[in-house]
Amino acid sequence: MGSAVAGILGSPHGLKNPGKEEIRRLLLCEGADQESLFFHADRTRKVYLGDDVHLRGIVEFSNYCIKNCLYCGLRRENTALERYRMTPDEIVDAARVGAEAGLRTIVLQSGEDPFFTGEMLARVIGRLKEESDVAVTMSVGDRTRADYALMREAGADRYLLKAETADPVLFAKLRPGTTLEGRIERLKWLKELGFQVGSGNMIGLPGQTVDSLADDILLLKEMSVGMAGIGPFIPHGHTPLAGCTGGSVEMTLKTIAVARIVLPYLHLPATTALGSMHPEGQERALKGGANVVMPDITPLRFKRLYEIYPHRLGSGEEGLTQSLPRVKAMIEKLGRSVATDYGHERPPGSSDPRF
Ligand code: SAM
Ligand code: SF4
Repeated sequence: MGSAVAGILGSPHGLKNPGKEEIRRLLLCEGADQESLFFHADRTRKVYLGDDVHLRGIVEFSNYCIKNCLYCGLRRENTALERYRMTPDEIVDAARVGAEAGLRTIVLQSGEDPFFTGEMLARVIGRLKEESDVAVTMSVGDRTRADYALMREAGADRYLLKAETADPVLFAKLRPGTTLEGRIERLKWLKELGFQVGSGNMIGLPGQTVDSLADDILLLKEMSVGMAGIGPFIPHGHTPLAGCTGGSVEMTLKTIAVARIVLPYLHLPATTALGSMHPEGQERALKGGANVVMPDITPLRFKRLYEIYPHRLGSGEEGLTQSLPRVKAMIEKLGRSVATDYGHERPPGSSDPRF
């Protein structure tokens, strides 16, 4: 192991309470140091969480959005996109298929679509919880506290609301009309309401620095979230960021690995965006700290229209019949196992074997 990384990874203090400079150096490492980082992240994952990989089936039930995020293909000003909404019955049916195939978490995701009121979402959640033994994660963006409360009361277990970037100036530019402060306040509401909260960020946003990537990891720690979706930014042709370069696979993998080392119990998906950028992207993430995969179980006729970014992995696959076998084969190939429990947040215990 090269000295730059060895000094950080070898120090219990550095691991437990890493400063920004240490995180920055880990993110910048290359070659043999980078391999050591992945090795260390993999070992940390194994020690803290074991070999189980949690599968979370995602139903993308609406691609309507009132927001205009500069990076996203669902933004309201993208008039080239054909819009759809699944009916409550279609959402419940898709989730049931996932539950019957053994998935223990169903994620309901959409653009910010006020057509689905808090009450409507609560009814869908209630039906899901009544008929299937699954944990439910909601990912429907910025809502009122009252809407979040309705979802929680209906039985939703988790909420995914990514900070996207910890740089407040960049955040405000990329998500017009919103602030990082407002996003963080919502994460706090969600925690107060009893949700297990997930956040995360994109890698390679225009104007993003390694410094701000280090802040992204520190923000996860500060918010003590249970899950973090970390994926590359992939430019979409019908957005203002069409000409941008996008995130790199290597920097995304390093960020996942550092997040694992900093937050050993964090649920970390091998993101679909990473798999979309490189055929081995998800596999490499699982070998470098990740412990979750989110197979897309949206029916094909809708899934192809949920075009956040182009050429999404699995966007041509018919729901579970194709996406699940591919994901399971990848997990088996790595000698890992598919988890059979819900994969709830893991509170850090006092029996931390490292310290
Ligand atoms: N509307 C909700 C929200 O913004 O929180 C949930 C749906 S949104 C499409 C889900 C995630 O997609 C965002 O948190 C963002 O990180 C990711 N995303 C959007 N555009 C992307 C792009 N061009 N490349 C990679 N990820 C992207
Ligand atoms: Fe809408 Fe979410 Fe896309 Fe922003 S990231 S445009 S809120 S779907």
